Amino acid sequence: MFLHRFGKDPTFITFSNSVTMNFDLPSLNALREVLMTEGHVVVSSHTRPDGDAIGSALALANMLRKSGKEVTVIMPDHFDRYLAWMPAAENILIGHDNRKTAKKIISGAAILFLLDYSAPDRAGVLEDSIVKAGGFKVMIDHHLHPADFTQLKFHSVAASSTSELVYDLFEDLGFAGKIDSNIAACLYVGIVTDTGSFRFSSTTPKVHRIAADLISKGIDAGDIQNKIFNNFSESRTRFLGFVLNHKLKVLPEYRTAYMTMSDAELNEFSIQHGDTEGFVNYCLTMEGINFGVLLKQGGDKIKLSFRSIGQFSCNEFAHNFGGGGHHNAAGGISWEPLEKTEEKFLNLLPQFKDKLDY
Ligand code: 5GP
Ligand code: MN
Repeated sequence: MFLHRFGKDPTFITFSNSVTMNFDLPSLNALREVLMTEGHVVVSSHTRPDGDAIGSALALANMLRKSGKEVTVIMPDHFDRYLAWMPAAENILIGHDNRKTAKKIISGAAILFLLDYSAPDRAGVLEDSIVKAGGFKVMIDHHLHPADFTQLKFHSVAASSTSELVYDLFEDLGFAGKIDSNIAACLYVGIVTDTGSFRFSSTTPKVHRIAADLISKGIDAGDIQNKIFNNFSESRTRFLGFVLNHKLKVLPEYRTAYMTMSDAELNEFSIQHGDTEGFVNYCLTMEGINFGVLLKQGGDKIKLSFRSIGQFSCNEFAHNFGGGGHHNAAGGISWEPLEKTEEKFLNLLPQFKDKLDY
């Protein structure tokens, strides 16, 4: 906008960059240049992709397609059923089921956009293909400690979601006017899921302004929230009741609450992939509790989810289980049996007692 008024005075370009742009001008110019080259584009995200992973990827892919690009969205593995309605979700290639095709498309891509993850091992079955790919790699992400495996990074831990960063990028690239209701729906899903419906402290005034703009593009925000949060099976709701009644353990001395789920319990209630999404947040609903943990069995593997309110670092705690993530939400893995993993977790708490006391 200012460039039009003041011409191409280079000092003013710097000024306008610091005032009006979300990202630095050299990175934006490098991206603009690479987008002008011919060739196939791959948009990909992390293993067990969530609403932000799918939302940011589909928004970017749909926008690039509108601009004449050929794009394939490739995810390492399946995404949850509640995201299946999203615009162009039906065209997502699942690496787990199509390894050869995924590898071929990734190795032949001119540009690869890697969204919502900051370290190559989060790419699951696609890790090797992505690391070896010769195309131009662009990270768009908001996790802590971004690794160096891409030529460009559009990264901010202050962002609520990768979808917010994709919106920022659209603004900086001059694509904001091209956001239609399909693209807006994708971005809205990413923001809603990563902010817990605008409840987490990452929900800045800017997040609400972006949400308002997305709603102005013609999406039905209430309908989208219903598709995400009021679309569960009866068995999932009953399982939630069982977990809250019988499995939730509260440790007031550590300001911690946690829950475990075994394969037997998950099978008894016919729990599907993704059904337990959000359960861990119930740990934080009680007064005085700052730290919530879910330990969920999946065969030999135990998936740990960590959530906190305030200053306690889930990311730091997750390092004990080979994981990481954000300050208030992180994950990790254990290959020990559920009981042993629970014991390890409980044995760690005393050394974090002071940090949890606020
Ligand atoms: P969730 O508990 O919902 O699986 O994950 C919470 C957050 O932690 C997400 O932002 C996710 O990207 C991150 N995360 C989950 N599992 C892992 C993991 O095993 N390693 C790392 N580095 N991050 C994880
Ligand atoms: Mn995210």
